[in-house]
Amino acid sequence: MLPIECILRDIHDEVFRQDDWGVPAQYIPELATVSPEQFAISVCLADGQCLTAGAVDKPFSIQSVSKVFALAATLGRIGDQLWSRVGREPSGTSFDSVVLLEREKGRPRNPFVNAGAIVTTDALLSGREPKQALAETLGLVRAMAETEDVFINANVAASEKATGARNKALAHYLQSHGNLQYDPDLTLGTYFHQCAIEMTTRQLALAGRSLARLEAAPSVISRAHARRINALMITCGHYDGSGEFAYQVGLPGKSGVGGGILVIAPRVASIAIWPPGLNHYGNSHAGTRAAAMLTQATGWSVF
Ligand code: GLN
Repeated sequence: MLPIECILRDIHDEVFRQDDWGVPAQYIPELATVSPEQFAISVCLADGQCLTAGAVDKPFSIQSVSKVFALAATLGRIGDQLWSRVGREPSGTSFDSVVLLEREKGRPRNPFVNAGAIVTTDALLSGREPKQALAETLGLVRAMAETEDVFINANVAASEKATGARNKALAHYLQSHGNLQYDPDLTLGTYFHQCAIEMTTRQLALAGRSLARLEAAPSVISRAHARRINALMITCGHYDGSGEFAYQVGLPGKSGVGGGILVIAPRVASIAIWPPGLNHYGNSHAGTRAAAMLTQATGWSVF
């Protein structure tokens, strides 16, 4: 077996050899103009080492990867009460789909589709100002990554707000079924800012250590919650591409439309990958391939 550093270099070179990078998210103007031909991969191991290749210190918009942190914060605050408002089943639909919400009376399938993440953010607000809920999520991210150097990009949040008709529709639909405590604009404003957190792959891999239960990780998420979040990541973390991701990669993962993917090899490694172009599911195109190459080369799998 090659040392991990060589594997990462090979993956980096292989990604640059292929010419299909996918397309950056077009519906958020601030993300649409990001050049797709960029790549970074970071791997934190159980012994505390963090190995990297590519543009690992370049911050990118973590988008839906933030749903993992918001879920962890919400479970930490209200625990199982969340599940009275959100399910734990894969949706088989795209991340911004409205179709199941009508059939299932405003109870989103899981906390990783947009509707479920909006309800989770609404639950995290629980009587507080958006600023306080955001500070809690950002504070958790910073504690997990052991750095204060993680910020929200207000331009990205504003850009998404300006074009976020689909998410507005979802929020109003949730409200019509009594599954939103706050005004849709207030909850969505909080959600858009949470999605606009920027991190480097190095920081994201460091943040994932608590979910991987690595020994060197700060203990900010309970073991029980880490297990549950990993289960949801493998079943729902890539929306209607979750089955394919589990088949190709064999590990829990969470994607975002900024092109980032957080992948967890329980007790073995926390992995962050970023190339901004997306596949037709809205998951990172080259990132999914890179994750598959990594698990193929290392043999890491939960199966
Ligand atoms: N902020 C994005 C949205 O709500 C997040 C979606 C994603 O990353 N899949 O559309």
